[in-house]
Amino acid sequence: PPHWSPASPLQLGDIFIAVKTTGKFHQTRLALLLDTWVSKTKEQTYIFTDMADEVLVSKGYNIIVTSCPPEHSHQALSCKMASEYDYFMASGKKWLCHVDDDNYLNPAALLSLLSKFPQDSDIYVGKPSLDRPMKAQELLEGNKTREVEFWFATGGAGFCLSRRLAEKMAPWASGPQFERVSASIRLPDDCTVGFIVERKLGVRMVHSPVFHSHLEDLLLLTHSAMLHQVTLSYGLFENKMNSIDIKGPFSKERDPSRSVLSKTYTYSAL
Ligand code: UDP
Ligand code: MN
Repeated sequence: PPHWSPASPLQLGDIFIAVKTTGKFHQTRLALLLDTWVSKTKEQTYIFTDMADEVLVSKGYNIIVTSCPPEHSHQALSCKMASEYDYFMASGKKWLCHVDDDNYLNPAALLSLLSKFPQDSDIYVGKPSLDRPMKAQELLEGNKTREVEFWFATGGAGFCLSRRLAEKMAPWASGPQFERVSASIRLPDDCTVGFIVERKLGVRMVHSPVFHSHLEDLLLLTHSAMLHQVTLSYGLFENKMNSIDIKGPFSKERDPSRSVLSKTYTYSAL
């Protein structure tokens, strides 16, 4: 007889991949993603932005133009996270995975990571940005505050939530609630997710080493490890350009973009 296997193994189509971007990054950052990893996940990738872009829509991408302000403020970023949450809930998909527009996502590694979890459990998985829990002052009624501690996954490294957990988050995450909770701890969107999961629901975050933001030294990633990582990133770290180091299979003639933008080279080499 065949080995036991789950009734329906997890597929890419079960994952709602939310990319957070903004109008001014459509041509620069987002274009890189569309030319590389999003070409393999077009159907399940949902791009949350603040500026209409008919060209992207005509090419068949799932573009969600939120009414969030085009700013880097806590409020604006939480507004987009709230929108990601609401669209995910309406999608009926099994997992919500969030990434920034400076993340490279490896869909096969993502699928393999998520497949290892019991599919009907409460999972919040990502990479903590600190080596200790976050501390916050939660604003209570009557202008009182209380100190709270919780782990959170760096938004810039990407993280995922299972549907069962996302459903439990609804009283604090749906509609206008997410922005309210974010304001009550005066912290950005990624911290707010951690606060809701760990403090409101008492669910522990799963700490995973396979998510990477440009807040860590990406040069430390070895070649052999690279292919097993779920996310990579590039950008400034302590005022210096931080990106992975990988040699590409293409000559500079066949891939001229890499001599123009080192990040294009980085991604097209994978
Ligand atoms: N972002 C945004 N609105 C802005 C600026 C940035 O939605 O006005 C998004 C951006 O597209 C990215 C994320 O916020 O997905 C983080 O921005 P960035 O990488 O520039 O900053 P970081 O926080 O990583 O230093
Ligand atoms: Mn970034």
